[in-house]
Amino acid sequence: MQGTLGGSLRPCTSLLHASLSHRASSLYLANIGQRLFIASVFGGHNRYYHEAMSFGRASERGWRRRGAQRTLGLGTKRHLAVVAAKRNMLTELQSIREEADPAGPLEFESPLDVILYPDPRLRAKNKFINVFDEKLQQLVNEMFDIMYKTDGVGLAAPQVGVNVRLMVYNPMGERGSGQEYVLVNPRIVKYGKSRDLFDEGCLSFPVIERGPNQAPTIEAEVERPKSVRIDAQDIKGKKFSLNLKEFQARIFQHEYDHLEGTLYFDRMTPEVLDTIRSELERLERLYEERTGLPSPERISERR
Ligand SMILES: [Zn+2]
Repeated sequence: MQGTLGGSLRPCTSLLHASLSHRASSLYLANIGQRLFIASVFGGHNRYYHEAMSFGRASERGWRRRGAQRTLGLGTKRHLAVVAAKRNMLTELQSIREEADPAGPLEFESPLDVILYPDPRLRAKNKFINVFDEKLQQLVNEMFDIMYKTDGVGLAAPQVGVNVRLMVYNPMGERGSGQEYVLVNPRIVKYGKSRDLFDEGCLSFPVIERGPNQAPTIEAEVERPKSVRIDAQDIKGKKFSLNLKEFQARIFQHEYDHLEGTLYFDRMTPEVLDTIRSELERLERLYEERTGLPSPERISERR
């Protein structure tokens, strides 16, 4: 029985691995080319060049050895290494792209206010922050003020109409208690495997006609990973990493979605979305009344 399984499975698995690593390797080469091109255009990215070169050499060695490494163990190990390296490279490629389109000195007028769905600024591209000055500090201060005033626990810059990659949060939601976090240019490096459901609200989605005991924002269940590892810069531009779990991981992922132009209802199941459709339509009508413009998106067009 053992022999039969080994005999019938091994060739298939080897083939699968060979084709997966080949596909991954081709993707790599495409990525390396893009990286070198970006590095050559924007300059100063010597480390990307060296990394790409050393990866290229490693791949070459891998291909030469492929014929000899037909056993399942070695194939799996190599495949996992290939997948991990590819993920790292894609994350870095993303950061190169972001750094290639910096925000420059920030411009905004105080006082800021929370913008509401379906304002198109909630879907706009958010730029990489590359100037760490007084104006950035002022933006952070104002965002905390607004967050506390509106009883929020987190706020992303696009929610106050400034399309840059910045978020602030305090899991306690009260000035003077808990810890304040300022994350500039944050990135998710790794997601935890387990996920959970949680009722999320969002300051850009207020409940218009609020009943007694009703939450101030439209709330519904969203499923997300329970933990994330992230990289970010502080208000001075210094890089740091954090492992976030439970409520903090939840807040971070919600705010990070804002930086990607993703809104929490994009992540709801159709059944959950049905429970808040009428509230979203009400916000769309209010936007049209306020601006005299047609709503830039309509929940009725989404199943
Ligand atoms: Zn939100």
